[in-house]
Amino acid sequence: MNKQDLDTSQLGSIVIAIDGPAASGKTTTAKNLASALGLTYIDTGAMYRSVTLHALRRGIDVDDADAVADAARQIDIAFKNIGGENHTMLNGEDVSLDIRTPEVTRHVSKIAAYKDVRLAMVTHQIELGGRGGVVAEGRDTTTVVFPDADIKVFLTATVEERAKRRQMDMEALGIETSLQQQIEDINRRDSADSTREHSPLRKAHDAVEIDTTNLSIDEQIDRIVDLVRDKLSNQ
Ligand code: C5P
Repeated sequence: MNKQDLDTSQLGSIVIAIDGPAASGKTTTAKNLASALGLTYIDTGAMYRSVTLHALRRGIDVDDADAVADAARQIDIAFKNIGGENHTMLNGEDVSLDIRTPEVTRHVSKIAAYKDVRLAMVTHQIELGGRGGVVAEGRDTTTVVFPDADIKVFLTATVEERAKRRQMDMEALGIETSLQQQIEDINRRDSADSTREHSPLRKAHDAVEIDTTNLSIDEQIDRIVDLVRDKLSNQ
């Protein structure tokens, strides 16, 4: 990574927000960027996934927006650094793997569309990132959660490339899926996330779009580090 000439002591209050469609590389990019720059990583998708997991486990009707929102307000979601890795904690339990199952993925976009669920999560995200020194990623971090972020990035990639990456992620978790299944899942989630009434996925007018189809993770991170460097040199 090209961190040369970057004075990381100046990054204390920086907010970097990264949005984009499903499997566009946000999580890996944001996680590695945060670790390289010594910033806190906020995985907002993991929060919506945690609400979904909780609802499914407790038998809460996922079509009942009020019941799901009640649960979202009551649960405790936190991030914990364990051995250098970011883990998602739901009511004190490490659910980092449980929130990535196909069942949670199938239901999450419905639950993330509920206005009051979003309100609860956005309030929590603002608390986590309020003092800065964060990299946040999701669907609305550049538009709703941190509209005044110092750096705003919109990551994209072709659906075929994104499906390939998601298939590899699933294989690493020991879950077999076909490329076609991943393409369908990604298209379904992108459509739900972009057309919903509350905080739909969209590119902020002042976000920099980075197409990651032909970029390595290090190249993606370097592009963002360049934006950070430009920002600091213009301050
Ligand atoms: O990023 P990830 O795939 O883990 O997000 C899971 C789902 O959570 C998305 O498909 C979307 O429906 C929802 N989400 C959201 N707003 C965010 C982050 C995620 O609606 N800021």
